[in-house]
Amino acid sequence: MKRLIDLHVHLDGSLPYETVHKLMKKEGLPAKTDTELYPLLSVPEDCRDLNEYLEKFDFPLQLMQSAGNIEQIVYDLLTVQRAEGLVYTEIRFAPQLHCQQGLTQAAVVEAAVAGLRRFEKEQYSCTCTETTPELHAGLILCAMRGAGNEEANLETVRVAAKYLGKGVVALDLAGAEALFPTRDFEDVFSLARELEVPFTIHAGEAAGPDSIRTALAFGARRIGHGVRALEDAALVKELAEKQIPLECCPTSNLNTKMFPDMAHYPIRALLEAGVKATVNTDNMTVSDTTESKEFVKLEQAIGLTAAEEKQLLLNAADAIFGGEDEKARLRKLIAEM
Ligand SMILES: [Zn+2]
Repeated sequence: MKRLIDLHVHLDGSLPYETVHKLMKKEGLPAKTDTELYPLLSVPEDCRDLNEYLEKFDFPLQLMQSAGNIEQIVYDLLTVQRAEGLVYTEIRFAPQLHCQQGLTQAAVVEAAVAGLRRFEKEQYSCTCTETTPELHAGLILCAMRGAGNEEANLETVRVAAKYLGKGVVALDLAGAEALFPTRDFEDVFSLARELEVPFTIHAGEAAGPDSIRTALAFGARRIGHGVRALEDAALVKELAEKQIPLECCPTSNLNTKMFPDMAHYPIRALLEAGVKATVNTDNMTVSDTTESKEFVKLEQAIGLTAAEEKQLLLNAADAIFGGEDEKARLRKLIAEM
């Protein structure tokens, strides 16, 4: 079995179908079949654009407004990821999107941490053999691009600082990059630097190289997506020299029409340029994908080799927001593959 790592997976875009059925029943909503749920949760193969993609978060978010549901979703997602062969993951979500029914951002994070702890406890109480190593996980809190949510974003940073090392590993900035440029979020990241919260930033997805340069200037340790760095040779060189990991999400980028097909996905160009590229799912349910499917698609479309796959996994091991002990554990697991 492969030992996989997913560093960029959004909780609200990755609710397992089983979990959605369970929570709909709990909430007293009329039951739907998987086929009926599909248009609410996942994009079709011929997804039109980013707008159609973003619509698929509306329904899941309705189910993510109570502590009990959030705890259950984190637990279920980790269970699915472990069954798939993941040995490490960093799951992200924006606490401010889960406060519609009175939860505070801190309460949202506590619920997610409780789901993580329940998973860990049950995992440790079972015997993990060499073929099914433990899945270790951390949470990344997303501030949101937008207008009028400045205070909510600063609260996200403060909550991240409070729970850093207690389930939370980092901060992120998500949302519509083309409408709300990275440079407008200086306040968020100066507070993150002050409170010593490490961060990644979604950049170079809907906007170009300038957005990535701004993220680097803010002090981002990683870049979410970042594939548009390839439009700027000097930036690619800088990313390679500074060993800044890129959290690449192939299927998601095809869904939002950044590339026409997987054969055009530039993962090999990034590796050949010496960039620390990694492969991630972004949204398992919205994009109807898994970490292993991402690798299979790249194998089929561009003939991704075993050596390239190993390099991508080693890059991910180096890129985690976890500590050196965890990196060493992951490198050993990958070497044994
Ligand atoms: Zn993302």
